[in-house]
Amino acid sequence: MAGVSLRHLHKSYGKNGPLVVKDVNLDIEDGEFMVFVGPSGCGKSTTLRMVAGLERVSQGEIYIGDELVNNVPPKKRDIAMVFQNYALYPNMSVFENMAFGLRLRKTEKHLIDTSVKQNARTLEIEHLLERKPRQLSGGQRQRVALGRAIVRHPKVFLMDEPLSNLDARLRVQMRTEIVELHRRLETTMIYVTHDQTEAMTMGTRICIMKDGVIQQVGAPEDVYMRP
Ligand code: ADP
Ligand code: ADP
Repeated sequence: MAGVSLRHLHKSYGKNGPLVVKDVNLDIEDGEFMVFVGPSGCGKSTTLRMVAGLERVSQGEIYIGDELVNNVPPKKRDIAMVFQNYALYPNMSVFENMAFGLRLRKTEKHLIDTSVKQNARTLEIEHLLERKPRQLSGGQRQRVALGRAIVRHPKVFLMDEPLSNLDARLRVQMRTEIVELHRRLETTMIYVTHDQTEAMTMGTRICIMKDGVIQQVGAPEDVYMRP
């Protein structure tokens, strides 16, 4: 496991672009479920994508555990990321989708087999392993996306609005499942949402952003959100 530290983090897109993340300082503890919440365009995704290594840091430092990762490529970071649009490979089966990251890392075949099946069972998608993504419902696809992330046992989980494409009922159900998954995996979670209810019900701590800066950080009962 590992915590994540953001030190004087700044980001602007392009050479003369405005700062969309401004002097963000935050220590996310090992095993914590941290939710970034705030209106669209406030810099949540950009912050998360810098932690993932998908965007360059303009200024400041990001540590994963004790390691300064500013110049570490995404694949070398011990993280897994889940997006709102699932990003599954359409021509691969559920099994192949889940196994993909392990195959890339040359994991032994029987270990891949065991890990995929075990995690599929956890997510209750074991019966779907031979299907293609197009043969799945939205909720099932999101479970496969989660499955693909957890088979690698990353130290840090990053989720960017993973539930926003689901219908309301499923969204509420998946909230509980993700919280439960986090508890079971004992991993560090950084979760981005614009949904205040989601933030309040899921996070052990909440970081409220506005216009690229952190406005408040605290436990759900301690932060104030405008209704
Ligand atoms: P969300 O708000 O749900 O994160 P967006 O529609 O804002 O999604 O962004 C989708 C993609 O477009 C992201 O990869 C983001 O980095 C990129 N993007 C967002 N705003 C801009 C912009 N002004 N110029 C170029 N790319 C952008
Ligand atoms: P949020 O996740 O809170 O919706 P973002 O981090 O996606 O916010 O965006 C923060 C700001 O950066 C927005 O003004 C957005 O338009 C801009 N932005 C995001 N991605 C890009 C990009 N690839 N190029 C230029 N501007 C971008």
